[in-house]
Amino acid sequence: MRAEFPDFRLGTVLATSFTATLTERCGEPVERIPTPERLVDWLAVSGLAVDSCTPTQLELARDLRESIHAAATAAALQDALPASAVQVINDRSTHGRAAAILTPDGNRQWQLDSASRVEDALSVIAADAISIISGERDGKLALCASPTCQAAFFDTSQSRTRRWCDMNTCGNRQKKARFNASHRKRAERPAPAPLSKSPEK
Ligand SMILES: [Zn+2]
Repeated sequence: MRAEFPDFRLGTVLATSFTATLTERCGEPVERIPTPERLVDWLAVSGLAVDSCTPTQLELARDLRESIHAAATAAALQDALPASAVQVINDRSTHGRAAAILTPDGNRQWQLDSASRVEDALSVIAADAISIISGERDGKLALCASPTCQAAFFDTSQSRTRRWCDMNTCGNRQKKARFNASHRKRAERPAPAPLSKSPEK
């Protein structure tokens, strides 16, 4: 029944999946958590299920999201981290309680302090952001090569040469644009003379 909302861009890194709930920041931005219910949906698919979310909690979440975006972008550019963004990330990290649980089959699960606490979920996301911005984790922060996106993403490829935040969206679009451009160029050139057939063996 929520088909009218834009779908989620889920990646393998929690913090940058979260910042990807707003896409095309440098073009026509798409808000993927436009309502508190949509944040509840996003948290559920991200392993941080909560019962409910208030408009105020949604504001807290978006504030954290944009702070992570600002700090991760600065880190990718090797600029100084914006102090206000660092403050918000630290506030969210400290104002929530969540415990890591090891499941019988060896996976990690997050247990939030009480099922309705969005703040607990945000503390997990903030801690995840800290682990990638601080360089604690194996990988490198980079910015998406799509001019309308420029999202910060965490490159864990062996060569650290990933160019797009998401291969299926930004990567594909860029490839298509390049293909169309080269196609146009070819169409403008006069047709080459027909090749002489090589003698058959
Ligand atoms: Zn992108």
